[in-house]
Amino acid sequence: MRKMRRKGLASMAVQTAESTTNSTKPAVDLGPAAALSCRECGHRVPLGPVFACEECFGPLEIAYDFSAHDTEELRKRIEAGPANIWRYAPLLPVPADVATKPNINPGWTKLVKADNLARELGVTGGLYVKDDSGNPTHSFKDRVVAQAIEAARAFGFTTLSCSSTGNLAGAVGAAAARAGFRSCVFIPHDLEQGKVVMAAVYGGELVGIEGNYDDVNRFCSELIGDPAGEGWGFVNVNLRPYYAEGSKTLAYEICEQLGWKLPDQIVVPIASGSQLTKIDKGLKELIELGLVEDRPYKIFGAQAEGCSPVSTAYKAGHDVVRPQKPNTIAKSLAIGNPADGPYVLDIARRTGGAVEDVTDEQVVDAIKLLARTEGIFAETAGGVTVGVTRKLIENGVLDPSLTTVVLNTGDGLKTLDAVAGTGLTATIRPNLDSFREAGLA
Ligand SMILES: *Cc1c(COP(=O)(O)O)cnc(C)c1O
Ligand SMILES: [Zn+2]
Repeated sequence: MRKMRRKGLASMAVQTAESTTNSTKPAVDLGPAAALSCRECGHRVPLGPVFACEECFGPLEIAYDFSAHDTEELRKRIEAGPANIWRYAPLLPVPADVATKPNINPGWTKLVKADNLARELGVTGGLYVKDDSGNPTHSFKDRVVAQAIEAARAFGFTTLSCSSTGNLAGAVGAAAARAGFRSCVFIPHDLEQGKVVMAAVYGGELVGIEGNYDDVNRFCSELIGDPAGEGWGFVNVNLRPYYAEGSKTLAYEICEQLGWKLPDQIVVPIASGSQLTKIDKGLKELIELGLVEDRPYKIFGAQAEGCSPVSTAYKAGHDVVRPQKPNTIAKSLAIGNPADGPYVLDIARRTGGAVEDVTDEQVVDAIKLLARTEGIFAETAGGVTVGVTRKLIENGVLDPSLTTVVLNTGDGLKTLDAVAGTGLTATIRPNLDSFREAGLA
């Protein structure tokens, strides 16, 4: 009792000493981020490079203090902000002057009104593709890495690392190069060449591990606990709470681009499930802040059949996700033991959405369908979301009369092998006769 009082007095003294500058801010300045709180038991700890609750081992996430925001002022401030994710800096765990720091500045990607695709799929309520292939390293991963970089800076890390299914490695390599960090990243050894080159070209160290993503992830967890990994910021392990918040910006952008309106339905790919859970968090925040009307929305999760632990659990009515050994061309989504799986199940059920999967063949068909109808060349993950959207409409699960947003999270140039059968219509000699002979006139 006495000890506690003394401790209380000591912290009061510290506060008094600091109060000339800032009395309530935590030790590191990450804007509105106030603390880390456990998603399971609510236990709060100060901001730091930790990811698991000391009480129950549950995952930690950022708790914010948004109390200072006036809705109209915030809306104006966002609209006047830069054409990247930093327009939402007041809602992210980053310092207020983040836009002046060296970072890859992703986001504000196109929300494409996909009328041709809508016609093919029979969607009448408005269909949009949020095309995140337009990010600096051509995948949505730039959003999460941009956050992790700011956290790494705040905590004094000088080396950045990650376990990756490919896109994350490229995003970390690029961001580290721009921001002046060393990077050393780990991937399964057998990824698509486009992803390997894209990860290597920025000059950081790239290590192939003989195993699948889940093996890579396990290795990184070991490295974190070893002196060899001391002082390393692993963007999706010890910086995961910060990293994950980057996905909220997808929700913010979609709503702002729809004229500050919630879509009725969103179809989101699932790897670890982090992105899907944070899109839900972002939508809830916009409602709480009064930036969008408070009405229901549905979130649908999309997987490839060859790695479908979450959709399998969803269909079986389970609350837990049984790990699988991935075997699919959708390698960016090939996480057999998804950390956020149970939360995804929860969100799909709570919002009235669903989780569905498609075969590799349907993924390829969907890539071609999106390219043919909208001029968007998606990587396999985009084939998964478009394919799942089609399947959900056919099965009467997704309502085609409602406003629907489908995510394309990566660029088809990274997964060329998936559509390798596509190529020349004809080869001709350079004269008109030959052109006519080919039946193209
Ligand atoms: C990483 C990734 C995702 C989703 O990742 P989560 O782990 O579920 O957050 C989706 N699409 C692409 C292309 C990715 O690289
Ligand atoms: Zn806990």
